[in-house]
This record gives sequence, C-alpha cells and structure tokens, in this order.
Amino acid sequence: MTSETFLQQLQDYYDREYEAIQLESIKHWLERFAGPQLDALLVRAEKLNKYLPKIFELNAAAEELGFAWEQKLGRAHPEHVWTPTDCRLCHGQGRLSIFKEVFKVQVDGGLQMRRRQTRILPLEGVDTMDYRYKHPTEEEYWCRCSCPAGDTPVLVTLGWPRYMRATEQAAGGVGK
Ligand SMILES: [Zn+2]
Repeated sequence: MTSETFLQQLQDYYDREYEAIQLESIKHWLERFAGPQLDALLVRAEKLNKYLPKIFELNAAAEELGFAWEQKLGRAHPEHVWTPTDCRLCHGQGRLSIFKEVFKVQVDGGLQMRRRQTRILPLEGVDTMDYRYKHPTEEEYWCRCSCPAGDTPVLVTLGWPRYMRATEQAAGGVGK
C-alpha cells in the first residue's frame, strides 16, 4: 500500500476528507512507513477511531503497533531537543498544534463544511493535553513555529509545514 492509497481508503472509510494542509502533513508523516506497515496501520486506525483520525491519533495507532522510525529509515529517529525560550507560541519547542473547530453552514440551500481556528498551543504540554481532551471533535494540525526554534533541522527534515500568521491569513491555510 502506498501513502496515497492509505489516505484514500481512510477517507473513504469515514466518508470524510482531510483539509489540504492536513493531508500534506499526514502524507509527510506516512513516508516513514513501509507498505506492509501502512496496511497494518490502516486496519488499526480504523479500529481505534470513531471519526476520521487526526495525526496524533494515527501516531498513537502506529506506536501501539510498535512501528518506529528506524524500521523504515534504518537509523534512529533523530531526537528533538529544545530549550525553553520566551516565544509565546511554542515556548521554545518549535512545534505547534493548531486546533480548528469544524462546523456546517447553510449555503445556497446546501450544507458546507467550514473550519475556524480556535487555539494554537505548543505540541507538548499539560495545557495541550487538556485542550485535546476537552475538545475531541476539533481537528489538530502540526507545524513548525515561526520563531527560530522552528528551524531545528529535525523538524525541517520531517517536512512539517511552517506556521506563518500573515501567510495563513492570506492563503487561508497554514504553511502555504
Ligand atoms: Zn516559537
């Protein structure tokens, strides 16, 4: 199975589609897995999740299956080391979770899906875990912070999109 097939089958299964930028993040993330791992991951993700899984939920399924980076890359997953900074967005982690609320609006007699950004939090932390827990239906997007911490080679290598506040407003998406 290729990552394209994986994403297609996953979206078909839940009869829902990922937003373009979310699709891009997940595609990059999937590149670490070999074909047979993707087969197993698809089955596991569908079993674990009631709704179209967010990237952290796919990650949880992969971890549960014991799939680690080194299986595909033949080397250890480069560790993301960071030091606290005064960045108000990532606190030095360089990694952000952007949360979006999904809602439907009536347009020309039909319903359309819309997304509204609700929170930006450092990817890891008690507040972030708490927010995820309290807002299970919101979508979560991972990206690199716009501050220098987001330039960490490990994150660049992982292909994470970059969060740019101005760009986001102009393009309607993160990291475009
Ligand atoms: Zn930052």
